Amino acid sequence: MSRIWNFSAGPATLPEAVLQQAQAELLDWHGVGAGIMEMSHRGKYFTEVIQTAEADLRELLAIPQNYKVLFLQGGATLQFSAVPMNLLNGRSADYVATGAWSKKAHQEAGRIGKARLAGSTEAQGQPADGFIRLPRQDELNLDPQAAYLHVCTNETIHGVEFLDEAHLPQTPANIPVVADMSSHILSRPMEVSRYGIIYAGAQKNVGPSGLTLVIVREDLLGHAGANVPRLLDYKVQVENDSMLNTPTTFSIYLAGLVFKWLKAQGGLARIAEINQEKAALLYAAIDNSQGFYQNPVASECRSLMNIPFRLPSVEQEAEFVRASEAAGFMGLKGHKSVGGIRASLYNAMPLAGVAALVKFMREFAAKG
Ligand code: PMP
Repeated sequence: MSRIWNFSAGPATLPEAVLQQAQAELLDWHGVGAGIMEMSHRGKYFTEVIQTAEADLRELLAIPQNYKVLFLQGGATLQFSAVPMNLLNGRSADYVATGAWSKKAHQEAGRIGKARLAGSTEAQGQPADGFIRLPRQDELNLDPQAAYLHVCTNETIHGVEFLDEAHLPQTPANIPVVADMSSHILSRPMEVSRYGIIYAGAQKNVGPSGLTLVIVREDLLGHAGANVPRLLDYKVQVENDSMLNTPTTFSIYLAGLVFKWLKAQGGLARIAEINQEKAALLYAAIDNSQGFYQNPVASECRSLMNIPFRLPSVEQEAEFVRASEAAGFMGLKGHKSVGGIRASLYNAMPLAGVAALVKFMREFAAKG
């Protein structure tokens, strides 16, 4: 077996040690004689799995006691609807657009109720690659009565990231910040108390697709309208320990293995250092290429996780993708909406993989 360097944006590469453990336990988990996938979600074995996963996640992110953790389904996309369903209750919410995903979240919320665009960094006339920075506070038009303010803290397509909580828009204390962290959750220590709700699809930094993490502050529970489906009501899910119906048991199990792996690496402070080092290596290769590779994002918000870049022509980009695949890389084609190249450097991508990519990029540029 030989594994390739997989730079896919998600579903994405997972830690090899985790996959090996899952493989070893697939038919027989802990000597029980059956695999996790085959067990009742209400039985004692799976209960141990989900409770351990939650405890490890709480430890990794230092989640305060007044926050609940949910293991749900439907992806981050369903949370675009669930958030307004749980929090709007006839009011209006503010959205900040810093890329394709926050724009989509805003559009989707508008189907549920009133969602204002409080700010957008999309450059006029060039929507495809117009998101290259964070908004300044004085560009935001915030509603002091908003039910919440929504941000996407890492834009997977445009490569724009809120690198720490100090970069978040300033909001009055009574307006909770809701964050889509799908593509960078667990990539660094996160100040959970700065947010009212955090949500994330699992298939980038957490585990397989199918699982969606929701971390919700207790005072935000119980505000869903009467017609909201029970499956989408956070309070009902909390009361049922994420098991109102059958949860995605295998994804939760695998996420639990990833949490253990993260702890074994030294926790999120150590992971953040490695992620800094990986991203710095790739950005340096881009910036020192005499303009052959270009990333237009402002330096204070360049994503450490998703790094899009362009080559001088679309023909060279197509050739880059082809040659990279022949050289043992995968997933470097940019998102179809923006084109170009994109390398995703999630937690499970080792420094050696980035070093191999940078070497390939240098050789490719030299051939011109
Ligand atoms: N938000 C962000 C930031 C994403 O990257 C993605 C998926 N690429 C989504 C939302 C949608 O996630 P899902 O496919 O899990 O619904």
